[in-house]
Amino acid sequence: MVETIEKNRKLFVDDPVDGQLEIKYGLPGEVKFCKRCVISNQRPSSSVEFKHTKESKKATIRFDEEGICDACRYAEQKDHGVDWEGRRDQLQVLCDTYRSRNGSYDCLVPGSGGKDSVYAAMVLKRDFGMHPLTVTWAPHLYSDVGWYNHQAWIHKGGFDNYLFTPDGVMHRTLTRLAYRNLLHPFQPFIFGQKNYAPKMALKMGIPLVFYGENEAEYGNPVAENTSAKRDPAYFARKEEQGETLYFGGVAMEELPEHGILPGQMDPYMPANPEALEKAGVEVHYTGYYLKWIPQECYYYAAEHIGFEANEDRTEGTYSKYNSIDDKTDPYHYWTTLVKFGIGRATYDAAQEIRNHHITREEGVALVHRYDQEFPRKYFPDFLAYLDMDEDEFFEIADSFRSPHLWQRTNEGWRLRHRVGNSEDE
Ligand SMILES: [Zn+2]
Repeated sequence: MVETIEKNRKLFVDDPVDGQLEIKYGLPGEVKFCKRCVISNQRPSSSVEFKHTKESKKATIRFDEEGICDACRYAEQKDHGVDWEGRRDQLQVLCDTYRSRNGSYDCLVPGSGGKDSVYAAMVLKRDFGMHPLTVTWAPHLYSDVGWYNHQAWIHKGGFDNYLFTPDGVMHRTLTRLAYRNLLHPFQPFIFGQKNYAPKMALKMGIPLVFYGENEAEYGNPVAENTSAKRDPAYFARKEEQGETLYFGGVAMEELPEHGILPGQMDPYMPANPEALEKAGVEVHYTGYYLKWIPQECYYYAAEHIGFEANEDRTEGTYSKYNSIDDKTDPYHYWTTLVKFGIGRATYDAAQEIRNHHITREEGVALVHRYDQEFPRKYFPDFLAYLDMDEDEFFEIADSFRSPHLWQRTNEGWRLRHRVGNSEDE
């Protein structure tokens, strides 16, 4: 057991060589890796990413007494503990209740046109006879393959689609603030994207929203993954509870200093939960009803709309078809490497181990090979987007490295703990 020490409201851990090392973001002082996948206990819970808070204080994934993470335990349940036929029947009943008879919209499927949203919309249409309206919150910078797939979704899949593109100047400002203050350049995108679908459902009078997979599967306690519906509190407006709202680490009332008026933030704000309730809007996860395997979603999307993977491996990992629609995506994962020591290959390998596509040994090798690779391909685009030069970009990033995870050496930054194969690592 590693002891954490609190001094001046900061946490430290004792290192035999380097002395006391600060622990940022309230992360666990002792770094552990799941014995079954490759995720570490530094992984934040998904739900906390959504909070409008000033600091990046994190609740993290839980490991049980056997050293297995909650995501692996949930995968175990998906393999053995779930009656998938029964769940499919439940979806059938739900669809039978809501299905329109004349082809008008009866449900709403948000997504970018990535493999998961393509799968959700296509299955609901083909297998369950639904008439989904698809809605998209645009990526920061569409990649060519991302735009191709988005268009294929509409033109080959046969869907109406609303594509919302936020004010590019303002979104850049928010992204820059989120990078500078939180090293979380995706925060504004996440706010906008998560809130868009329920608001569109209200506007269009569509009572049923289908998300794909419950993202909480990858980091929240197992007990929270047992519901088909998204908790309405997820959409609650914190301001009405007297809390200050922060965007990119800046309080709402200070946004005008950055050229943004509070009213302009509407697209980023949650729908009113009372209005949702009154309109009877329900948000369901397709992944609750259908066993969700990302690789299968990819094959399905490739077969039915000609979904294309990247020609090259995505930098920072080994995969070719996950999150490829936004040129800035690699920097989202790179910032999680900086803050939590968890890069993109770790996320991919952990998921593929849980779905039995690769072994843990293979996963460990892939993490060692790719996790710390810096994404160069779209770096000039991302720097231009942030209106930053390289020096500033790295100076900011380095200030977010937690000393309990990173050591500065003559060769550069080195992780103090890496996932390994032996039991005691
Ligand atoms: Zn695990």
